[in-house]
Order: sequence, then C-alpha cells, then structure tokens
Amino acid sequence: MATILYDADANLELIRHKQVAIIGYGSQGHAHALNLRDSGCNVVVGLPENSKSRERARQDGWSPVLPEEAAARAQVIMLLVPDQHQGQVYTQSIKPSLTEGKLLLIAHGFSLQYGQIVPPDNIDVAMVAPNGPGAQLRHMYSIGSGIPALWTIYQDVTGQARELTLSYAQALGCTRAGVIQTTLSEETETDLFAEQVVLCGGLTSLIRTAFETLVEAGYQPEVAYTCCLQEVKLIADLLYKGGIHFMHNSISDTAEFGDYVTGPRIIDEHTREKMRETLRDIQDGSFARNWILENQAGQPTLRAMRRKDATHQIETVGNK
Ligand code: NAD
Ligand code: MG
Ligand code: MG
Ligand code: MG
Ligand code: MG
Ligand code: MG
Repeated sequence: MATILYDADANLELIRHKQVAIIGYGSQGHAHALNLRDSGCNVVVGLPENSKSRERARQDGWSPVLPEEAAARAQVIMLLVPDQHQGQVYTQSIKPSLTEGKLLLIAHGFSLQYGQIVPPDNIDVAMVAPNGPGAQLRHMYSIGSGIPALWTIYQDVTGQARELTLSYAQALGCTRAGVIQTTLSEETETDLFAEQVVLCGGLTSLIRTAFETLVEAGYQPEVAYTCCLQEVKLIADLLYKGGIHFMHNSISDTAEFGDYVTGPRIIDEHTREKMRETLRDIQDGSFARNWILENQAGQPTLRAMRRKDATHQIETVGNK
C-alpha cells in the first residue's frame, strides 16, 4: 500500500531557509514559483534572454535571470523546462554550478530515467511531480487547498534530501492534499502510459473515431460533436468526484446498461494486448528513444501530426 504524507509530516521552515531557483516559467514553472513565494520562500526565476515566458514572469512580479545565474545562486534547483530540452539545459546551465550538497529537483522522471540527465554523485536529487497541470496547482493552492503529488528521492548525499523535498512539496501546497512516495521508474512509466493510453491518446482517438462514425452515417456534425466530445467533461467531473460506481449512480439506467454491454465490446482483449505493448515500449525505452530522436531531427513527425490535427473536421465544427 502507498504511503501518503500530509502537512503534519513536513516542515515548511526548511525550504524557507534556502534559496530556490525555478528554471522555466511555463505551466508548472509559474505555479511552483508563485506557490513557493506565497509560502514565504526565496525564489529566483531562471529563463533564457529570448524566452517568451519572460514577459509573463515580469507581469507576475519576478525579475528573471539567466538559468545559469539562477542555478548558481540557489541551493535548491527545480528544473521545469520541457522534458525534451532538459538534457541540454542541464548540461549547459545547471551542471556547472552543482556544488556539493545542492538539491536538484524535477517534476517528471523522463530525463533522469532515460539518461538525458546524469547528475554528479555529490548532490541530492529528488522528484516532486504534481498530479495535474500548473493552472490547477496554482488555483487549488490559492483557494487554500492543493493537488496531490508523487515524490521520490533519487540520491541523498546530505541526509537531508527527504526532509527538504517534503518541505518543498508543502510549500507547493501538495501536502495539503497528500503526497505519495513512488520510485523514478514508477512515476515515469505510469505517467507516460496514462497520458498515451487514457488521458490524451486513448481519449482523443475514442472521441474522433466515434465522431467520424456518426458523421459517416449521416448525422449532423454539430450533434456528433456535442455528444461525443463536449459531454466528456460532465462524465469526467463525476469520475473525478467519486469514481466509476459513483458516476454510474448519477447517469440514467439506460446509459448505465449501455455502459456495461458496450464498453467491453469497444475496449476488448485486442485493446488490452495493445496496452501491454505500449507499456513494454515505455519500459524498455523504445518510446523515449523515438521521442529523443524526433527532437534531434527537429520534430518532423510532431509538426506533421499537429497540422493534420488542426485541420480535422472536428475542429471546424468545434470552432463554429
Ligand atoms: P511548459 O512547456 O509549459 O514550460 C516550459 C518553460 O521552460 C517555458 O517557460 C519555456 O520558456 C522554458 N524553456 C524552454 N526552453 C528553455 C531553455 N532552453 N532554458 C530555460 N527555459 C526554457 O512545460 P511544463 O508543462 O511546465 O513542463 C515542465 C516540467 O513539468 C516537465 O518535466 C513536465 O513533464 C513536468 N510536468 C508537467 C505537468 C503539466 O501538466 N504541464 C504536470 C506535471 C509535471
Ligand atoms: Mg504543448
Ligand atoms: Mg503526471
Ligand atoms: Mg506527462
Ligand atoms: Mg443511475
Ligand atoms: Mg445522453
């Protein structure tokens, strides 16, 4: 069973006495920086000179410095740049100033798990991975609550890594909701699996294929859009609130019966085997290798897919 820790298990004072660097000011970066500031921490934001995020950071009251300067000043460094750039940012801007005993933090295990970052053995390394987008992390904190997070200690040379990492998680507001101890590979592999199979890849393919099936059969695209895409939010809210059985209690008996008889026809043993294959590709590094090579090649596949994505009929109908 998972160990879940809360505010009472952490000591906010520890992180308040350190200089923290937040590298990157995107979805996660802005939420980490603002939550930490509101928790009474000393934060410096690190961004390249030409970064588009500089303006947003300035509007939020920061005076961003270069990533290498932020990393040099800080004792705790949270790396919140896109996963595919982390290896390069780490090597160029972080590594040179990783003096003994500093704490390097990440919010997702990809770059460490797949060897894009290889930290020296005289620093602490840990992960605090919030279970949600930055906007939600910030919003929940600002109403006095928080979102859960996964955390793990990758390397502890000071003997303080655990306490300091939990203190960081408290400053983020995550110990208000509960933080679950994990391992680097568990967080990395389950996060990639869930976004590919359920949250992003699975869901969008399910919606698009259902939309296309209705339109092909002659139904109005606007009607197909509403019932196959927009209503997902209503069901997702029920699932978020109380789980599957709770959702079943809230829908009509007709919808519930249709769920039981048709769900397993759509997601069948063939799909289960595909899920296992997907998991194997994540575990053995095949997916990571593809994604790393894709970036080295200048993202040709990502760009082509994005263009195709944007021009699908479901977008035209949705915009209308
Ligand atoms: P993002 O794309 O929203 O923001 C990235 C930030 O990094 C931007 O401010 C960008 O300007 C900056 N940046 C880009 N290249 C840079 C460089 N070379 N040097 C310095 N800064 C650079 O990214 P994000 O979604 O916040 O992801 C950051 C990390 O958080 C990733 O490891 C991601 O897996 C993790 N994470 C994201 C979410 C989420 O929902 N977005 C949730 C949990 C964890
Ligand atoms: Mg994006
Ligand atoms: Mg995640
Ligand atoms: Mg992810
Ligand atoms: Mg019912
Ligand atoms: Mg209905």
